[in-house]
Amino acid sequence: MALGSQRTASVELTPPQGGESEASLTAQQIVARVAEQRFVHDAFAWFRAHSREFEDIQLEITAIPAPPWGESARAAWLRCRFEQAGLTEVHRDEIGNVLGVRPGSNKDARHVALSAHLDTVFPADTCIRVSRDGGKLYGPGISDNGAGITALLAIAAVLQAINTPHSAPVLFIGNVGEEGEGNLRGMRHIFEDPRWADSIGALVVLDGAGADTIIAEGLGSRRYEVTVQGAGGHSWSDFGVHNPIVALARIIDRFSQTSVPTNPKTTYNVGTVTGGPSVNSIPQSATMRIDTRSASVEQLDRLERALREAVKDGTAETNGRKKQEPVTAEIKVIGHRPAADLPASSRLLKMVRAVDAQLNNTARIQRASTDANIPLSLGREAVAIGGGGSGGGAHTLNEWYDPAGRDLGLKRILLLTLALCRIAEE
Ligand SMILES: [Zn+2]
Repeated sequence: MALGSQRTASVELTPPQGGESEASLTAQQIVARVAEQRFVHDAFAWFRAHSREFEDIQLEITAIPAPPWGESARAAWLRCRFEQAGLTEVHRDEIGNVLGVRPGSNKDARHVALSAHLDTVFPADTCIRVSRDGGKLYGPGISDNGAGITALLAIAAVLQAINTPHSAPVLFIGNVGEEGEGNLRGMRHIFEDPRWADSIGALVVLDGAGADTIIAEGLGSRRYEVTVQGAGGHSWSDFGVHNPIVALARIIDRFSQTSVPTNPKTTYNVGTVTGGPSVNSIPQSATMRIDTRSASVEQLDRLERALREAVKDGTAETNGRKKQEPVTAEIKVIGHRPAADLPASSRLLKMVRAVDAQLNNTARIQRASTDANIPLSLGREAVAIGGGGSGGGAHTLNEWYDPAGRDLGLKRILLLTLALCRIAEE
């Protein structure tokens, strides 16, 4: 449904009245002006008319496996879709992120970026079955991040279909490596790439379903692998040789006595322990994996110091007990997600609030670990919001998505994008 309006600066949004400058308008005024434009009403109608297509797209993308470090088939699919949506500069970067730009009328403005992660938590051998039943969609990854990717494409498609004018360019990103040990590598790469790092004015991460949250606070996490090694031997004939599992148990005992504050909420977890070939062997090595989380970098630092201390003392106690070949321990950092918040005074947060007020939507600020952590930790503006509708069973094979209310989520993303595009040149 192309309405044939010309994309030139002269048919841009209604100019401010009475000589007031764009900079003097409140976020609410900017959003209200965007919302009253004819093409925005057309775009809202376009969303309603294409709801079934969005469901088909979501089922199609969810059916393409995208395990951590294995997103390439899904990336290839998205690249085609970006081209169909008329984006320019469509390409995959060195690590597999898919990017495309919808140019704006102001070539000097910084990009307003929209992103959705491509990867799922499901390993490559997972049997991915998608289905539609009683108005709901089912499949592993259908909401996280089928809903986000669908919203990303819906925005690209509506800007093309309605030929929506905007000043700043919009950068569309399908990124790799958000989940688990992907460790935010996709977004990290984009913000390290000189081509994009400084040219992104604001990032809106589309992650999962819903329209009732604003993730403006990044939950930091650090993950460690601790390995203790020793000589090993036979359980009978080598009895007395230091046992790495016992040394590891001493380390765990010490570390788990570390106190943590409830505010800022700080947590730790020993998630896995492995080691030893058989019941009648003194193992040569034992390994555990630990997850630590906090909104505060200081607390994460404190937990890391406590872990290093526990490792030092636990091995020293083991080695001090008797004269044997000593055990040694090694700590490896296997994950690092920086913690940082979007300041309440930020332009982006005000704009999200204004969009929610305009749409009569109630949303609360939440803390989570998302791709937004990366720009937030660099002092840049970013939020994560949902793709509309509702969902549940995330990270399980029984994940579902209910498209009822997707409309609201898409309107929210579109209004936010256009409002940000309007001020990006300031
Ligand atoms: Zn996600």
